[in-house]
Amino acid sequence: MKTSEKRRRAAKASRGGMLEPHGPDGRIGRVAAGLEARKLDALLVSAGPNVRYLSGFTGDNANLLVMPERTILFTDPRYQIQAAQEVACQVRIARGPLVMDVLAAIRRAGLRRIGYEPARMTCEAFESLKARLPMQATLEPVRGWIEELRMVKSAEEVERIRRSVQTNSRAFEQAAARVRAGMKESELAAELEYRMRRLGAEKPSFDTIVAGGARSALPHAQPTEARLEKGLVVVDMGALQDGYCSDMTRMLFLGRPDAKVKRAYKAVLEAQLAAIDSVRAGVGSAQVDRVARRVLKGYGLDQAFVHSTGHGLGLEIHEPPRLGKRDKTKLATGMAITIEPGVYLEGFGGIRIEDTVMVTDHGCEILTPTAKELRVI
Ligand code: ZN
Ligand code: ZN
Repeated sequence: MKTSEKRRRAAKASRGGMLEPHGPDGRIGRVAAGLEARKLDALLVSAGPNVRYLSGFTGDNANLLVMPERTILFTDPRYQIQAAQEVACQVRIARGPLVMDVLAAIRRAGLRRIGYEPARMTCEAFESLKARLPMQATLEPVRGWIEELRMVKSAEEVERIRRSVQTNSRAFEQAAARVRAGMKESELAAELEYRMRRLGAEKPSFDTIVAGGARSALPHAQPTEARLEKGLVVVDMGALQDGYCSDMTRMLFLGRPDAKVKRAYKAVLEAQLAAIDSVRAGVGSAQVDRVARRVLKGYGLDQAFVHSTGHGLGLEIHEPPRLGKRDKTKLATGMAITIEPGVYLEGFGGIRIEDTVMVTDHGCEILTPTAKELRVI
């Protein structure tokens, strides 16, 4: 390789968070070095976020074949220029289905045991690959390997998440200032998304949730044409900026909250603060979930808390770990997670408070700057 070529590749590699594609410190290098222990000749990565994490490629149709000594990115002609700009490993442009080119590479390299991502590959791609494999080759399921690597964020990833969180909170402030009774849920959702794009987000990291009154009791309500009137309004929103997600839930109240609303809000806020307080490296994620549930139990509201306390986020809005009863993950410094207890009472409404936090050695850093009091309008 010419020196200028080497320099160009190194520069690209460092942008993708890697040093040299197969160096021991690079992301692909770590996977390549781990193949032998898993008795694999190669790993076929088909999940877009995993491909992006390892290679830096941001297009949406790609496979990555990681082998001990080299790695090939397969994509289609629409991404020829982009792949050359973004990726330091070898790129192959497929003229038809990617699987055909992957098969050709498998044959050429004489690969036998090929790891694949069962949770991420389509049945169609799997069947098509399996039907055409060379005689001696087998497909071996690999679950959650790259997702596990992605749990602990690099300094650059932390910065991106931080920026995404800030954009999201600014958009919320700007839009919340315009909320009036009579505004449609869909109008508020549009306003939030418009503001976040104006502030630098590529798009929302998930479909913005705005739900008023009794509909706030649906944890994943989609905004409707219903007009906001007296009562609770839940806003759950996130930005996607530089490829990284943020996630926040805040409650608005139109009119004057009564004692029941105030008590439920206090319970959720206490649960959220206690859960945040319990976060630090070494603590089990299930433990954080237990802390939130215990507080709500003290208010007789634990039965109304119908989901887990939080989730990891990064390139995707929901990543491991899950902060739920059955999760076995120990929190580690550099994990980005949400803390979002909530209570949902049919006919009354729902209350959820959610922040994005970074796990540290001795606690956590709350990235979300938005005030947590019930915002009365
Ligand atoms: Zn959320
Ligand atoms: Zn969330």
